[in-house]
Amino acid sequence: MTRRSFLIASVVAAAGVAGRRSSPAHAAEPISLPPLPYATDALEPFISSRTVEFHYGKHQRGYVDTCNRVLEGSDLAGAPLEKVVVASANDPKQTRLFNAAAQAWNHDFYWKCMRPSGGGAPPGVLTEQLQKSFGSADAFRAAFLESATTLFGSGWTWLVFNGDRVEIVNTADAGTPITGNRHPLLTIDVWEHAYYLDYQNRRADYVNAWLDHLVNWDFAAANLGRA
Ligand code: FE
Repeated sequence: MTRRSFLIASVVAAAGVAGRRSSPAHAAEPISLPPLPYATDALEPFISSRTVEFHYGKHQRGYVDTCNRVLEGSDLAGAPLEKVVVASANDPKQTRLFNAAAQAWNHDFYWKCMRPSGGGAPPGVLTEQLQKSFGSADAFRAAFLESATTLFGSGWTWLVFNGDRVEIVNTADAGTPITGNRHPLLTIDVWEHAYYLDYQNRRADYVNAWLDHLVNWDFAAANLGRA
């Protein structure tokens, strides 16, 4: 960076800070697009950087932008995303807001459910829960794969904690367990945009690769600890 461009950048940055300071105190903070927890190529070769760039940079960003457009001037403007999701659920007049807000929340959760060099065996506390509900971690794996591959159309497959035991649930479209009384531990996005560039119509190959190489069991166990 030249000295001149550095100075221009500094002035622009300072103006930005001053601008924020001079905003009215009640100005609502928009919903933000949280950063990815890893680089866009970190999940390769199982999910390509091209998929992540579209999925995060276009789809998730689109949900966040729509959410902010619909929220502008509404009573929910400035509310945390989770509150927007819950408040707009089951209200036919707020379907557009719910779809955008829930998709924004689901996607942020989804990225955290993966990590480079993921997969392997779940931590002990989670293995105990999987054994209690499914008989074994392998039986859970088979049930999760079946659920994710047979979900018709677009949606999400989740591992949730219902207060007593873990279970697998599917939600259609933007559906999310945070509108009910189940605590999400893990999710896989099975909208075609999540895998089509890499796997085309072979959703089972995507789910298998996800379970074997990407799933972030530590994140799921941490969620169970907070449930
Ligand atoms: Fe998605």
